Amino acid sequence: MTDCLFCKMVNGDTPVNKIYEDEDVLAFHDINPQAPHHFLVIPKAHIKTLNDIDDAKLLGKLTLTVSNIAQDLGFADEGYRVVMNCNEQGGQTVYHIHLHCLGGRALTWPPG
Ligand code: 5GP
Ligand code: ZN
Repeated sequence: MTDCLFCKMVNGDTPVNKIYEDEDVLAFHDINPQAPHHFLVIPKAHIKTLNDIDDAKLLGKLTLTVSNIAQDLGFADEGYRVVMNCNEQGGQTVYHIHLHCLGGRALTWPPG
């Protein structure tokens, strides 16, 4: 069995607050939201970091999934931020790539 938390969610071994799923991607609400809307979109395949993917089609699909969900949830027009943290200095804590989508409040720039 995998040690990866997000693979366990994909496999159904860990409960997940799912928003969307298809054959390639899974989207779910972040357990520790940093904004009124905060969800994650992950590939079903285990890919550790942004440095480990060269699949442009999958990266594009992850990004389009974010905007589709933001539109479905009704905050796309107000605006939102999409983030992928990479490795230690990027703030990555779960080593299975994921896009964060944060929305529902005014976000500041730059991030800390
Ligand atoms: P990272 O720091 O790697 O960019 O983001 C990891 C994200 O995963 C964090 O925002 C964290 O709150 C979220 N997270 C960690 N454990 C869980 C969990 O068990 N369930 C959910 N839904 N999110 C989680
Ligand atoms: Zn994984």
